[in-house]
Amino acid sequence: MTSLFCCPLCGAALERAERTYVCPGRHSFDIAKEGYTYLLPVNRKHSAAPGDDPGMAAARRDFLSKGFYRPLLDALCALAVSHTGPQPDVLDVGCGEGYYTAGIYRALCAAEKRPRIAGTDISKSILRLAAKRERDVEFAVASSYHLPLADGAVDLLLDCFSPLAIEEFRRVLRPGGSFFYVVPSAMHLWELKEILYDTPYPNEERETPYEGFSYECILPVEGHVELKSQEEIHALFQMTPYYWKTPRAGAERLAAVDCLSVRTGFRIHVFQAE
Ligand SMILES: [Zn+2]
Repeated sequence: MTSLFCCPLCGAALERAERTYVCPGRHSFDIAKEGYTYLLPVNRKHSAAPGDDPGMAAARRDFLSKGFYRPLLDALCALAVSHTGPQPDVLDVGCGEGYYTAGIYRALCAAEKRPRIAGTDISKSILRLAAKRERDVEFAVASSYHLPLADGAVDLLLDCFSPLAIEEFRRVLRPGGSFFYVVPSAMHLWELKEILYDTPYPNEERETPYEGFSYECILPVEGHVELKSQEEIHALFQMTPYYWKTPRAGAERLAAVDCLSVRTGFRIHVFQAE
């Protein structure tokens, strides 16, 4: 089948076969047995990718699989269905272990559409899990700032808590295509932050216009999760940026907690590419 991805060396379209992707210029890229591929040009390959830790990847997969962020998935699926035509090409940038990618793929199929969906991430460990989650989605190790996709290749682009490579996103979206950018709301994980920090601050909520995009709306999604073990609490902690910058005293306070009721809140910024 013709892939959504293009050759990272020459930019030509890639054909996906059983075990490899091949371009007309005979550049070829192996598909790992789990089902993902590497589309980083050699000079951009790093030996240790950020967040490339198998244990943390599995904890994240298990946490999301329990449905704690289900309200966000449901909102994204409904938006994806209403913002796409019958055969949409969809890209999830920084897709992690594919929870939202796979969910959106299934929602589009259930709505009797015929989507082609791809997910990219810089972490190999996490794509291994993503590819197992949904075989019909293409997953590639790639940089958000050098996406292996042709200009105007996608109808819908999703960025869920991933760095914003806005110019590159604009390049791969077709004019009129949709861009969903998910960020945490002011009070997201407030009760967790109250334990971690002596003086927690709410997240800043912004409405930022980006060149080449017009704002359609910001959709708030509120929920809460009941964490019933230290394992679940730690899994959530690991998924947050606080994990890397919490003072030791805060982390120790959290390690002594066995159950926690936490607010979740997201804001889906919906843009249209001009
Ligand atoms: Zn090529």
